[in-house]
Amino acid sequence: MRDTDLFQMALGLTPPWQVESCEFAAEQKRLDIRLAFPRGSVFVCPQCGQADLKAYDTTEKSWRHLNFFQHEAWLTAKLPRVKCDHCGVKQVSVPWARPGSGFTLLFEALVMSLPGPCQHEAWQSMWASMAPGSGAW
Ligand SMILES: [Zn+2]
Repeated sequence: MRDTDLFQMALGLTPPWQVESCEFAAEQKRLDIRLAFPRGSVFVCPQCGQADLKAYDTTEKSWRHLNFFQHEAWLTAKLPRVKCDHCGVKQVSVPWARPGSGFTLLFEALVMSLPGPCQHEAWQSMWASMAPGSGAW
């Protein structure tokens, strides 16, 4: 099994999404997982459910994921937009995060499971680490 297959299973990725590469930066204690979809993949309009829409354009975006042991894990993907006949150009939904969120669903679930005061701390330190200039964005 390739290491990318392992991450694919761990992240619960659904087609057409697949793990393209994984990179450990030991010094930064950081794991970067890059997700991609094969050329010609089709997506569903997030607004009306129209299927079989080709990617219209893409924007690169990163999400903070659960720590992988001592490594900070980040997901990065070129997020496609589709051009729907009914709704216009829309950003597709992805299986690992809520629309517009900078965190994966698993990461949010982890923070939400912390006791209230810890949650506040966790979000604060997360936002601080994602501030412009930190290199995270
Ligand atoms: Zn639509």
